[in-house]
Amino acid sequence: MNFDLTDEQQSIRTTLAAFAEREIKPFARQWDKSETFPREVIEKLGALGFLGVAFPERWGGGAAGTLSQVLVVEGLSRYDASIGLTCAAHMSLSTGHIAAFAAKEHCDRYVPDMIAAKKLGAWCLTEPSSGSDAAAMKTHAVRAGDNFQISGTKMFITNGSVADVYVVMAVTDPAKGRDGVSAFIVDRGTAGLSNGKKIEKLGLHASDTAEVIFENVTIPARNLIGELGAGYRQTLKVLEGGRIGIAGFAAGIARGAFEEARAYALERRQFNSRIADFQAIQWMFADMATRLEASWVLICRAAALKDSGKPYAREAAMAKLFASETAMWATTKAVQIHGGYGYVTDFPVERYMRDAKLSEIGEGTSEVLRMIIAKSLLRDGYLPV
Ligand SMILES: Cc1cc2nc3c(=O)[nH]c(=O)nc-3n(C[C@H](O)[C@H](O)[C@H](O)COP(=O)(O)OP(=O)(O)OC[C@H]3O[C@@H](n4cnc5c(N)ncnc54)[C@H](O)[C@@H]3O)c2cc1C
Repeated sequence: MNFDLTDEQQSIRTTLAAFAEREIKPFARQWDKSETFPREVIEKLGALGFLGVAFPERWGGGAAGTLSQVLVVEGLSRYDASIGLTCAAHMSLSTGHIAAFAAKEHCDRYVPDMIAAKKLGAWCLTEPSSGSDAAAMKTHAVRAGDNFQISGTKMFITNGSVADVYVVMAVTDPAKGRDGVSAFIVDRGTAGLSNGKKIEKLGLHASDTAEVIFENVTIPARNLIGELGAGYRQTLKVLEGGRIGIAGFAAGIARGAFEEARAYALERRQFNSRIADFQAIQWMFADMATRLEASWVLICRAAALKDSGKPYAREAAMAKLFASETAMWATTKAVQIHGGYGYVTDFPVERYMRDAKLSEIGEGTSEVLRMIIAKSLLRDGYLPV
């Protein structure tokens, strides 16, 4: 067991932090306030190679493994969780789905441009009436000669109104249930693809979240990803990997909350002492860091299992469950440590608290993750490590 980052991972962490300090930190509050999606920052991250760290070199990636990609999401989320989520959805979900399951022709056509952020991806699973029960989707795709025609509405799609490439799950054979779902690539600009009304959110204001509507969207049959009827199985695999990324997203927010609260507690004085000298405050830091450290151990283990080709669904679910609940808890404590200043927008911790909530909901709610973990434990038993 080796918990040291490689030289390459250290370098990703430090160069990304320098970028974020310069290009993200000074603007994050304003983007949140004005609900601005900073596309140019995503393009710079792509140009610098950060969005391809885990993808194969033949497509311009860095082949540096899952943990490296988590470090990118974590390092961005520490400063601006909206940018962290944008990149997590782009890398793990849309680009990851194409790279893992699409034909070589499609991988060559899309993945290099997506890694370089010349094309931004969105991954369309959730619908207005199907979330946790994703297989109950209504969007359907019907074969018409050499084409498929897709109709339906997808809900809460990250990058939904700004993407260039959409990975869309749709029912192709209603009689087959989960084995009747297929995945497709749809390019922005295809007739019949549009966005619904703007979705106003609790947090993550600089991340684009949109309804994506498909009205008889006609695409070539070759845009099917993998085999007909394999879309739901692909979805489960994509979500397993995505959950490690969302654990990193949560860990980044929690680290941000810790660092901001620590700086504040060392400065703020009450009763002639720094508030950092009060034991009640010190214990909050001890608990925040202990939970954060435990999150990282779970993340590292899930990432190592994934890269070694072993099953990792349970460990990814555990990492995401624990890291997300840690982020919600730690950001609440960070607001508490700031007192009244934590409740106002002059300090970033209220934004961190609003942003953290999504980590308990997206890519499997905490309840769904507990179901996945329990099912695996009752089926296979439990042996630590
Ligand atoms: C900001 C944001 C970004 C998102 N990005 C994307 C994206 O890019 N692509 C995409 O496809 N989706 C995306 N989503 C959707 C997200 O994945 C879903 O919101 C999530 O899966 C939950 O689905 P739901 O909202 O329909 O809630 P529901 O499934 O309706 O759940 C409601 C409540 O019931 C609980 N529940 C449901 N089933 C059970 C059960 N069997 N047992 C116990 N409790 C249960 C849930 O845990 C939850 O507490 C995004 C959502 C948000 C808010």
